[in-house]
Amino acid sequence: MQGSSRRVVFIDRDGVINVDLWKYVEFWEEFRFEEGVLDALKELTDQGFDIFIISNQAGVGDGVFTEAAMWDVHEKMVAELGRHGIRILGAQYCTHGKTETCDCRKPKTKLLERAVHGISFDKKKTFFVGDKISDLEAGKNFGVKTILVRTGYGRKAEQQLTEALRPDYIVNNLKKAVPFIVKL
Ligand SMILES: [Mg+2]
Ligand SMILES: [Zn+2]
Repeated sequence: MQGSSRRVVFIDRDGVINVDLWKYVEFWEEFRFEEGVLDALKELTDQGFDIFIISNQAGVGDGVFTEAAMWDVHEKMVAELGRHGIRILGAQYCTHGKTETCDCRKPKTKLLERAVHGISFDKKKTFFVGDKISDLEAGKNFGVKTILVRTGYGRKAEQQLTEALRPDYIVNNLKKAVPFIVKL
């Protein structure tokens, strides 16, 4: 492996990092980390991973909440993670509405492309961790490995898996995904 090659991990936000509320997370006050997430992200940080958050936030485009509110939640999340020694290298959000045509809403791959623009890394050693079918599709479309977590929509997604969509691993939560991410 080239010395310049970095270790990258893509992680969906709602339902993986924070508890999915079955509605959009509009305010920091309603944001709750999933169990074990701080440990998981600290371990990935300590192992030298470049962590990218990849999230659809169609509520912005659909007029449910503002882009400013979305970034406020983002900044407070990153600050709170930082207090735990966790470094998020970047986050890419699709703010287009559900019926808009864009090239970034997962399962499309533009968010992932943007995140790693200019970064040298090995897709074969890279995971996308998500709780929805669209996360698995985005990962496969981008050519990286996938992990389905059973938090958020994960259990529902697990029922909808087809052979073509099967993730590399299915685990109970992000913390359980870390050993697979690290040892690859
Ligand atoms: Mg999700
Ligand atoms: Zn988009």
